[in-house]
Amino acid sequence: MTNALPDTVTTRQAIIDACRWMNSSGINQGTSGNISVRTGDRGDDMLITPSGVPYADLEPDMLVRMPIDSAPTGNEPLKPSSEWRFHQGLLRSRPDMAAVVHAHPAYASALAINRQTIPACHYMIAAFGGYDVPLAGYHLFGSVELSDEVNRVMQDRHGCLMANHGAIVVGESLDKALWRLEELENIAKVYCLSKQVGDPVILSNAEMDDVISAFANYGPVKV
Ligand code: 13P
Ligand code: ZN
Repeated sequence: MTNALPDTVTTRQAIIDACRWMNSSGINQGTSGNISVRTGDRGDDMLITPSGVPYADLEPDMLVRMPIDSAPTGNEPLKPSSEWRFHQGLLRSRPDMAAVVHAHPAYASALAINRQTIPACHYMIAAFGGYDVPLAGYHLFGSVELSDEVNRVMQDRHGCLMANHGAIVVGESLDKALWRLEELENIAKVYCLSKQVGDPVILSNAEMDDVISAFANYGPVKV
């Protein structure tokens, strides 16, 4: 039993739609960012966006299918995203997660350029699995070192900032990952704004524990 999505045109089109949404919503731009989803009978393959292809040009058969535990063979019709290593690593270490989304959102990147984390300035920080959104240290895009660093800081978190780069989120589904990306950028924005108008008050760990408990009962109730 895995949370893998079937490798169908519908799934592939959902990835393309997600890429286009990232850019039309203003959360990302150009060919920056990349998306993967878990697929395959045992959940040990991924579908990942190709490297450097404008999202407007993407077709379902241009997404790259590859195992989550071995390097590209070079025989793929298109090169997988340069960030295939951290997508693989996150899908391997987080079997509860079905999707990985990386983007270059403006406010999250502004904080990451200043080498800041996002503290519990807003209760929605709970959506990221802890008391803050951590920061992955700077390494060259696409490098093994960046992948190792991202996997280290996301061991117990559902999102992180990336120094001088952007942000990454994981999701139990592709929709959940996109929801988290939008929440992350909104919290980054209000944190930046709150620092401009004053001295933000940060919620305590005890207050955040209450939020995490309350989240367990949040959402529509079945009648
Ligand atoms: P790709 O086009 O190779 O996915 O790279 C975009 C990016 O954001 C690299 O960090
Ligand atoms: Zn990037």
